Amino acid sequence: MKILVINSGSSSLKFQVIDSDTEQVLVKGLCERIGIDGVFTYKTDKVSIKEPVAMENHTQAVNTLLEALVDQEKGIIHDFSQIDVIGHRLVHGGEKFTGSVVVTDEVIQAMTECNDLAPLHNPANLVGVDACRKLMPDTLMVGVFDTAFNQTMEPKAYLYGLPYRYYEKYKIRRYGFHGISHKYVSQRAAEFMGRDPGEVKTIVCHLGNGASISAVKYGKVIDNSMGFTPLEGLVMGTRCGDVDPGALEFLAKKENLDFPQIMAILNQESGVLGISKNFSSDFRELKDAEIKYNEKAALAREIFAYKVAKYVGSYAAAMNGVDNIVFTAGVGENDSDIRQEICNYLEFLGITIDELKNREQGEAVKISEGTSKVNVLVIRTNEELEIAREAAEVARGVRGGV
Ligand code: ADP
Repeated sequence: MKILVINSGSSSLKFQVIDSDTEQVLVKGLCERIGIDGVFTYKTDKVSIKEPVAMENHTQAVNTLLEALVDQEKGIIHDFSQIDVIGHRLVHGGEKFTGSVVVTDEVIQAMTECNDLAPLHNPANLVGVDACRKLMPDTLMVGVFDTAFNQTMEPKAYLYGLPYRYYEKYKIRRYGFHGISHKYVSQRAAEFMGRDPGEVKTIVCHLGNGASISAVKYGKVIDNSMGFTPLEGLVMGTRCGDVDPGALEFLAKKENLDFPQIMAILNQESGVLGISKNFSSDFRELKDAEIKYNEKAALAREIFAYKVAKYVGSYAAAMNGVDNIVFTAGVGENDSDIRQEICNYLEFLGITIDELKNREQGEAVKISEGTSKVNVLVIRTNEELEIAREAAEVARGVRGGV
């Protein structure tokens, strides 16, 4: 099956076409600056294009990519009927969605009800769905949620210490995010080690600009460091992670700030950017600065690593043990120094790292020594492939094994 994978944001739309039988990527691209001026990137094994294309809205962006797909020179299909399924990345499915679903009017309605929970992401995702439905009304669409894999968390993990009535009334609870990545990476880790995901305990450290950690016990998430929103948990690129709400009230009073202003500080001005006194949210730049004795850049990286190690330790306790610890996403896949620093805290788990292996690059690398009591792996995440797999699986179910 040919699956068109769409990841629609507020002003950009990433896409790939993946052959779900061979898992080969046929096209990869990006519509950027939608509603501003428009930049279109499109790559196959034969062509590589990056050009300005006016895109006033998401429908025009989807139109641009569809035209490219059937173009005589750069295209990969003759007509749209050759796209079997469209798989959409959808950020927040609340408690309603525990797995991937066919996108119907009811699903759109239910998702719209979740907009409140993810005001920056869900409406942008839905605009992408809407654009595809307009232009390819007969194509099966599947929604793959970032929250779904985390829905196996139990109340002891997902409830806050708040009055229960607020959970009943507004569904205020921890949802966890990056579920598509956590699912892909935990399963790939088990497969790489020759084990069944249903028999291992895995901690996945998804360390990118946005960062989260999950505890996956026998194939099911039992905890995830993100919460009601993707603000909770680790210190991130620009997001604060865990903070005492009392400090926020204090800050609001001192600086005469309202809630939207406080939230903007927590989302955009905090994390390693804020700690480094606005030096950078980019871990590469922080590393370069650390080498040149920038103390705040060094402190930001130190706090980041310490916090990751604390979560790993607590998740090892939550699962009463751990077989695989996996690093993934931009920082996790590329920053060997930070991996080493995190693992230094974890010697008590019997973890030892092979320094040479830790410097290797690859789709999947085991960086712990043979004698290490826990396997430490670096695995490249692949959310698009996971979406394509899920979309194909849902489509097979709908079509009765096609
Ligand atoms: P997101 O998808 O959340 O935007 P990514 O997973 O793309 O984030 O990760 C982006 C982060 O990865 C940036 O902070 C970037 O500096 C970091 N990164 C990418 N390559 C490297 C590298 N070679 N060394 C250290 N950090 C890196």
